[in-house]
Amino acid sequence: MVELRAGDLVPERLIAVHAGVRCLDQHSNGACVALDPATRLCMIYDARPQTCRDFNRGESLCRRILARP
Ligand code: SF4
Repeated sequence: MVELRAGDLVPERLIAVHAGVRCLDQHSNGACVALDPATRLCMIYDARPQTCRDFNRGESLCRRILARP
């Protein structure tokens, strides 16, 4: 789950509040609601949160998530 920071401008319809923290919502399988399940591309790429901008594709966490069945 991606916690939003001040200055993140993602569409409100994608936001959920967990324990008082604004986050990008996720589906029951843990996938981000902004991830297109067909293309596996971010649907808000140009407006993605700073956390996503700081995350480098191919890092160990990324590889573990992509390896999930
Ligand atoms: S890059 Fe896009 S799809 Fe991936 S977690 Fe961030 S907002 Fe969601």
